[in-house]
Amino acid sequence: MPRRTKIVATLGPATDDPAVMDNFIAAGVDVVRLNLSHDSHARHRERAERFRERGLAINHEVAVLMDLQGPKIRIGKFTEGKIELMPGATFAIDSACAINAGDSTQVGTTYLELANDVTSGDTLLLDDGAIELKVVAVANGRIDCTVVVGGTLSNNKGINKKGGGLSAPALTDKDKDDIRFAAEIDADYLAVSFVRNGDDVRLARELFYAAGGRGGIIAKIERAEALNQIDDIINASDAIMVARGDLGVEIGDAELPAVQKRLISRARELNSVVITATQMMQSMIEHPIPTRAEVFDVANAVLDGTDAVMLSAESSIGRYPVKVVEALDRICIEAEKGTTRSGHRLDSVFGRVDEAIAMAAMYTANHLGVKAIAALTETGSTVKWMSRIRSGIPIYAMTRFAPTRRKVKLFRGAYPVSFDVASTDMHEVNYEVIEELLRRGTVRNGDLVIITKGDRSGVEGQTNIMKIMRVGEHRLLNED
Ligand code: PGA
Ligand code: MN
Repeated sequence: MPRRTKIVATLGPATDDPAVMDNFIAAGVDVVRLNLSHDSHARHRERAERFRERGLAINHEVAVLMDLQGPKIRIGKFTEGKIELMPGATFAIDSACAINAGDSTQVGTTYLELANDVTSGDTLLLDDGAIELKVVAVANGRIDCTVVVGGTLSNNKGINKKGGGLSAPALTDKDKDDIRFAAEIDADYLAVSFVRNGDDVRLARELFYAAGGRGGIIAKIERAEALNQIDDIINASDAIMVARGDLGVEIGDAELPAVQKRLISRARELNSVVITATQMMQSMIEHPIPTRAEVFDVANAVLDGTDAVMLSAESSIGRYPVKVVEALDRICIEAEKGTTRSGHRLDSVFGRVDEAIAMAAMYTANHLGVKAIAALTETGSTVKWMSRIRSGIPIYAMTRFAPTRRKVKLFRGAYPVSFDVASTDMHEVNYEVIEELLRRGTVRNGDLVIITKGDRSGVEGQTNIMKIMRVGEHRLLNED
């Protein structure tokens, strides 16, 4: 079976070597990316032509993606090339400071309006988040900060504001010039950096088409505010890119995985295409094999449903441009084997009654809007089955057995509750279960709860009942 997930690979000095080029393409590159943040038009033109020509020659035609630099905001240069920032020190970004005259107390910036977009209390992240500054005062184009996380800061590093909100429009004068160039090259895709909304995408498309361009427009999702306009952006573009580098700096790295999944599924829902980008094989810039974590990252993006995975520095300046494409190829193919069926177990046959009850409970819970699941359990096996199904609903493992309570602590979404079924009366047991959930504050009057249990309580493997109860009504039922 051919690989279904596509590989986008950035070109650079590492792929220019004629001895590398053919092997690199043949290893499975589908789309070559020219990053307009670097290099001259002449160099990009030459690369695009060479790769198109070699691709055709070896029967591996490649598409060309031109990626605009966008309004990446940067600090200026330092007289000494770099400085050391110590935590607690004061440091300023000042539009009045000459662009190449930074020192250990202040530096200039490429974006003279920066001071209008920040206020005291904001967090500025430099060098992809490696350096963190807290803004203490803003006046006359000067931003005074305290260093929170220090380190070495060198020339031209990027600046992001945590939480987003820098107002620079998506297309700079350089971008507009680069759009004309991309049209001249007849780029198959034009990627627009730092889009804020659908209008940024529509404007880029208008300029690209007006210049004679015919390719698709890719919206790079790398600003916090783009997430609020995501449907408009997806509908305005031909594809989106989950640009995890800048996006992670703005929204925080811990937020990225959930956002990636949401973006991928939303793009697919709206019939759009999605690329997952940045640091997928980062360690292969230096090493011939990926880390286990990188293997999982790529495989997970495939399982999330991404159309393509992307290489940046790994291919453009890395030591192993061919090996890194080969690695992506084999990981994608293997991961795709796990994506042919939906996860809803529609085709599975349940071997046991208690397993069937567990599956029915989760299906119902996920589709009915239930607040909590209470599983009266002896060994915890019902809870384990339940917790294998993706859900955000808590599963309470209600048991008198301490070892079972400890066991379920490892299960995703399962929480142990010490609970002894004292009564043999069915209504009384339901009543007790719901009263316990109310005491824990996990449910309120009017909420729906699922209870699973066995006719013969206290005997393992006997779960054969699924009961749906509404909190509040349990008291009435207990009375009659
Ligand atoms: P870049 O975009 O490589 O052009 O910065 C991708 C990203 O930010 O992840
Ligand atoms: Mn970026």
